[in-house]
Amino acid sequence: GERAPTDLNQLCDEYLRLAYQGLRAKDKSFNAALETEFAADLPLVSAVGPDVGRVLLNLFSNAFYAVHKRQQTGEASYQPIVGVSTHVANNHVHLQVRDNGGGISPEIQQKIFQPFFTTKPTGEGTGLGLSLSHDIIAQGHGGSLAVESREGEGTEFTITLPR
Ligand code: ADP
Ligand code: MG
Repeated sequence: GERAPTDLNQLCDEYLRLAYQGLRAKDKSFNAALETEFAADLPLVSAVGPDVGRVLLNLFSNAFYAVHKRQQTGEASYQPIVGVSTHVANNHVHLQVRDNGGGISPEIQQKIFQPFFTTKPTGEGTGLGLSLSHDIIAQGHGGSLAVESREGEGTEFTITLPR
């Protein structure tokens, strides 16, 4: 694909709805709080829109999956939250996706960017999302994709792209 000036805030908004609707199509009773904090002064970045869209769709789908799964455990007073924020730095823009799902253990964290690694049942995950996402962000856009997670608390993925 061709690179073009891209509004990440708009892309996030679009794909967040898509991912949320995707999960709600499987479980009509699913509800999550969506917390968005989009930097008003976010510069356009040079990006292949559909490629970054695939990355976002995967990160958001993973987040909704994680909070939905935690909700299924029936924990009292649990409220699923998926948050997305964008920030501007000197030479970079940052996009963060966080959830208060079950989190990822350190052992699993070491493997999540490997192709075909998945903890999901057959048919629910291919294990290709994060490996592909990493390549799109790193090789395709000269950026980085990082994860921070704590078991029982949640997970945060950060995309960093050059301005
Ligand atoms: P898939 O979604 O098909 O399993 P991914 O590459 O997108 O493949 O993710 C790989 C694995 O990383 C998932 O199966 C899951 O174990 C873990 N993972 C990714 N995102 C999250 C998240 N937000 N919360 C908990 N685990 C996650
Ligand atoms: Mg995935």
